Amino acid sequence: MYENVTGMVKQNVHKRRGRELSMSIKDIINLEETYGAHNYKPLDVILSRGKGIWVWDVDGKRYLDCLSAYSAVNQGHCHPKILQALIEQAHKMTLTSRAFRNDQLGPFYEELCKLTRSHKVLPMNSGAEAVESVIKTVRKWGYQVKGIPAGQAEIIVCDNNFHGRTITIVGFSTDPMARDNFGPFTPGFKIVPFGDAQALERAITPNTVGFLVEPIQGEAGVIIPPEGYLAAAKQICQKHNVVLILDEIQTGLGRTGKMLAEEHDGIEADITLIGKALSGGFYPVSAVLSNTEVLGTLKPGEHGSTFGGNPLACAVARAALKVLQEESLVENAAETGRYFLNGLKQIKNPLIRQVRGKGLMIGVEFYPDAGGARQYCYKLMQEGLLCKDTHEDTIRFAPPLVITREDVDWALERIEKVINA
Ligand SMILES: *Cc1c(COP(=O)(O)O)cnc(C)c1O
Repeated sequence: MYENVTGMVKQNVHKRRGRELSMSIKDIINLEETYGAHNYKPLDVILSRGKGIWVWDVDGKRYLDCLSAYSAVNQGHCHPKILQALIEQAHKMTLTSRAFRNDQLGPFYEELCKLTRSHKVLPMNSGAEAVESVIKTVRKWGYQVKGIPAGQAEIIVCDNNFHGRTITIVGFSTDPMARDNFGPFTPGFKIVPFGDAQALERAITPNTVGFLVEPIQGEAGVIIPPEGYLAAAKQICQKHNVVLILDEIQTGLGRTGKMLAEEHDGIEADITLIGKALSGGFYPVSAVLSNTEVLGTLKPGEHGSTFGGNPLACAVARAALKVLQEESLVENAAETGRYFLNGLKQIKNPLIRQVRGKGLMIGVEFYPDAGGARQYCYKLMQEGLLCKDTHEDTIRFAPPLVITREDVDWALERIEKVINA
C-alpha cells in the first residue's frame, strides 16, 4: 500500500515536470499573475533547483543566490544533512500537536539553549508568530511581575523597523506600504528613532514593558546602528526594568559573523527571536528564546500553535543548527563576509553612496541619481547573480554562509562589471 502510494506520487511528479517544461516562461508567469494575489513583485526568474549557494532556473541557467531567501538558507540550498533529517523524521512522525509530548522537542530545546546561552524556548513557526508571541508574553510579564495597571502596557519599537506582516506588527511599522489601509491597529506601541539610545530612555514610562529592536535593520536596507547602541539600550532597559527584545530573525544564526548579532556588542538580550535559518530553509520554524523569567509567566492554555514544536520541525531545526556548527559557518560568515565587503568597497563608482555590512549581511547603497537599485538587480540576474533591492537605493548581498572566497571573486567580477557598465 505504502509503496503504491509513493509510486503514484512519483508518477505525478514526472507528469507535472513534463507539463512545466513544455510551458514557456511566459505561460508560467501568466499562471502566477492570473491566479495569485499580487503581493510580491519578483524578478522574472523561475527557479526549480538549488544546491549550496547556487540555484538553477527552469532552463537550466545557474545563478549565485545572494539573497538566501532573506537569510533562511544560511546553510545553503538543500543541505544534504538537513534533507536527510527531514526525510527520516517524515517517515517516523510529523505532527503530534502539543496535546502530547514528542521525542524531538526536549533535545531541540536543550541544543538550542546551549548554543544560544538561553534558559527557555517557546517554539513557533513563522517569524511574525514569534514576534506576536513575545508581545503577548512581555505584556503579561508587565502586568503580573512589573505590576503595571491592566491594559496600560507599552512596548517601544524603532522607526523603519521590520518585524513581520500581522495586523499588530504592521500597526507599529513606519513604512506606509506595510501599514496604509490595514487599520485599525493594536494600541500600546511607541516609536523612537533607530540607533538613538537617549531617545529610547526618554520614551520609557512606568508602563513600559519592552523594547523591541533589530540589531541591524535588514529590510530597511542593512542599517547598522552606531557602535555601542545595543549595549546602551541594554543598560537603559536594565535600569528601568524593561525587557530588551532583540529580533534576530534575520541577523541571527551566523548571518553577521556571530551566532547572534548581540555578541558584536558583548551583550545578552533578555529575549531573542529567531526564525528563518533555524530550519535551513526547509520548513518554517521560529522560536522565542528567553534569558529571564519572562517566558515563565505563560501558563498552560494561554498560548499555543498547532504546528509549533512539532517533531518534523524540531528534527529539521536540530540538523540545521548542527550544520552551522559542524561546518563553522559562523566563522566563515565573518571571514568571507569581510573579504566580500572589502571587495565591494574597492569598486570605485561615483554613484555608490556607501558600502556597509557585518559578516555576510551587506548593503550597497547608491545615490538617488543612479536611478534605483532594481535596475542593477536585473542586470546582475542576466550575469548570473540573484539579489534584491531594498528601499529603492540599496542592494543587499546576503549569500548562503557556505560561500567561499573563490565564489566571492566570481561574484565581485560580475558586480563590478554591472555597476561600472
Ligand atoms: C523575516 C523577518 C520577520 C518575519 O518573519 P516571517 O517568517 O516572514 O514571518 C521578522 N523580523 C525580521 C527582522 C525579519 O527579517
